[in-house]
Amino acid sequence: MIDQHGRTINYLRISVTELCNLRCRYCMPEEGIAKRDHEEMLRAEETIAAARAAVSLGIDKIRITGGEPLVKRGIVKLCREIGEIDGLRELCITTNGTLLSRFAGELKAAGVNRLNISLDTLNPRKYREITRLGSLQDALDGIEAAITAGFEQIKINTVLMGGVNDDEIADFVNLTKDRPLEVRFIELMPIGGGLDFEKAGFISCQEVLDRVPELESMEEVDGVANLYRLPGARGRVGLIRPISCEFCDDCNKIRLTADGMLKPCLHSGEEISIKGKSPQQMREIMQHAIYNKPQRRTALDADNPSEAGRDMNRIGG
Ligand code: SAM
Repeated sequence: MIDQHGRTINYLRISVTELCNLRCRYCMPEEGIAKRDHEEMLRAEETIAAARAAVSLGIDKIRITGGEPLVKRGIVKLCREIGEIDGLRELCITTNGTLLSRFAGELKAAGVNRLNISLDTLNPRKYREITRLGSLQDALDGIEAAITAGFEQIKINTVLMGGVNDDEIADFVNLTKDRPLEVRFIELMPIGGGLDFEKAGFISCQEVLDRVPELESMEEVDGVANLYRLPGARGRVGLIRPISCEFCDDCNKIRLTADGMLKPCLHSGEEISIKGKSPQQMREIMQHAIYNKPQRRTALDADNPSEAGRDMNRIGG
């Protein structure tokens, strides 16, 4: 479907839960969030109906996210049913990877095409500090399990934080030398109630190019990532610059939260509920929301936080 600004919208991100087994400092409050009443959240049948409505409007790529999608009960079945929708070209998951040792094989068999695995450090002590709860080994085992299960072109999402993981930029880039991974550095966004953006250490993706000058531009983009490669490397490096480079003109996505709110723009507070609606009503609401997707996001910096109105775990990154 084409929105009123001429952009083709073919990508839906569905958050299937607000809950997570980690508490990343820039994403979620330390105490976690209150588990909400089932009644308030989309039922699996509603999520599938929404996915069908979206595909009937021209969405051909769906990403399952959260919270942590792999803590959602019935996640494999949900993926299988969404993956079976006629017209869907790609089904992906964004996960912290810590439960992939258990789920990678089943997800592959259920028709999931690709995985993005979030990993902000290769240092076990720092991993614990950033995630407050997690073990680096679980995430690394999860990446291995995904490779063993046959997932190709796995993407590693690394949020850049000055003074926290900028000293590991070269180590992350070096992961691409022998492995067919795409390491994607992402600029930290000023989003979420508890985030002190300045203290969290925003640095731009330019830092990656400054620290690893051997990186060569591939003159290609993959979604919103500009691609680079080390000479002779098997994998590649993606730079995602939501702050230093606004990419609204190329935005092709909408989001659906776990409580059934369509978010046509990540950084806008505008939300439209599809909870409790019939499949036909869902389709109409979605059609309207896509057509009216905001043209641009608002300014984003330390003085201008996102107007998203929710923490990332309640939107789905
Ligand atoms: N639990 C899953 C995971 O860890 O990938 C999926 C949900 S998480 C909200 C999705 C992605 O959003 C992660 O890669 C996370 O690093 C990113 N994220 C969360 N808050 C962010 C922020 N303030 N700026 C940039 N990326 C953020």
